[in-house]
Amino acid sequence: METNDCQNTTQMDTKVVHGCKGYDSHTGAISFPIYQSATFRHPGLSQTTGYDYSRLQNPTREELENTMAILENGKYGFAFSSGMAAISSVLKMFSPGQHIIVSDDLYGGTYRIFEEVYKNYGLEFSYVDTSGMEAIEKEYKANTAAVFIETPTNPIMKVADIGLIAQLAKSRNSLFIVDNTFLTPYCQRPLELGADIVIHSGTKYLGGHNDTLAGFVILEDDVLAEKLKLIQKSEGAVLAPFDSWLLLRGIKTLGIRLDRQQQNAMELAKWLKENKNVKRVYYVGLPEHEGYEISLRQASGFGAMISFEVASAELVEKVLSRIKVIMFAESLGGVESLITYPMLQTHAAVPEEIRNRLGVNDRLLRLSVGIENVKDLIADLEQALE
Ligand SMILES: *Cc1c(COP(=O)(O)O)cnc(C)c1O
Repeated sequence: METNDCQNTTQMDTKVVHGCKGYDSHTGAISFPIYQSATFRHPGLSQTTGYDYSRLQNPTREELENTMAILENGKYGFAFSSGMAAISSVLKMFSPGQHIIVSDDLYGGTYRIFEEVYKNYGLEFSYVDTSGMEAIEKEYKANTAAVFIETPTNPIMKVADIGLIAQLAKSRNSLFIVDNTFLTPYCQRPLELGADIVIHSGTKYLGGHNDTLAGFVILEDDVLAEKLKLIQKSEGAVLAPFDSWLLLRGIKTLGIRLDRQQQNAMELAKWLKENKNVKRVYYVGLPEHEGYEISLRQASGFGAMISFEVASAELVEKVLSRIKVIMFAESLGGVESLITYPMLQTHAAVPEEIRNRLGVNDRLLRLSVGIENVKDLIADLEQALE
């Protein structure tokens, strides 16, 4: 589970290619083997190869967990069957009566599991704009045990100052959790900025091909790691060996995929801004974006997620039926460009009152920019927005 035997490379684009060990030490296989075994033979009484049963440890999953740990510059990585399983496992580290401060603009599934599942187990949640410090500070109560944020947020792309929130959380004896799905460790490493726990939906950029569900938790602290390991092995929402291998393979190209996706996103954002049927563009990489300066400081890229508001709700329907290259589907981060309608899809579980306050209205579309030739993406949007 610890990363001591990982290769010691320094550059992120090398780390993603080689992962932790980078090969199988028994055979020399460059493609890390899929250990499709539920259980492992013991050499003798009270003896173990280090692997006993795949809910506890599996070599393929372990290589992936260690890879994620070194990418996020943490000590421990945990792979789960989905991003939601990862979030759910982290939530189980808390106790009834504890209170968590959460970004108000966040993945709808996260809002749903907090409100419709964990509230029933006695956890309390408040939702605030985490792009400013005052709102967070004001929300602190005697029983506040953690701050949970996304940055940039989904889908309004608000940026939080990770370093400042880390200081606040520490001074109040609470944990600081960051869902780093949108930027990935290739662009942003919250543990280096003081966060305690990093979460990912590996389904998105890390897998990168819209073919596998996965989730991760990465952390540094030994006591927290022990607590989470207990939850992971007791509950068993672990990533399967084959899916672990798909993730290892996906991560190898994370760097070049994101380079291309971000380049495409920047061009598309600038193009959207000039389109007469587009009223507003939310992209962190545009200098006029409120979070632009913080992003320059705390991340090495702006990501490839763009939200934009079109002129009317009728136009939304037309765009979604006219687009051909860009596909109308829920999810993000893969090589294929996808467009979603947050109000009815990812954010359907969020109450209308919160949605309206945020700007998640009937004219807002969210674009996950892929690696296609940007000319095709622009041409597709051009004919769809006419
Ligand atoms: C998709 C997503 C999740 C949930 O992950 P799954 O892999 O779909 O379970 C959580 N957080 C964010 C930011 C996401 O985009």
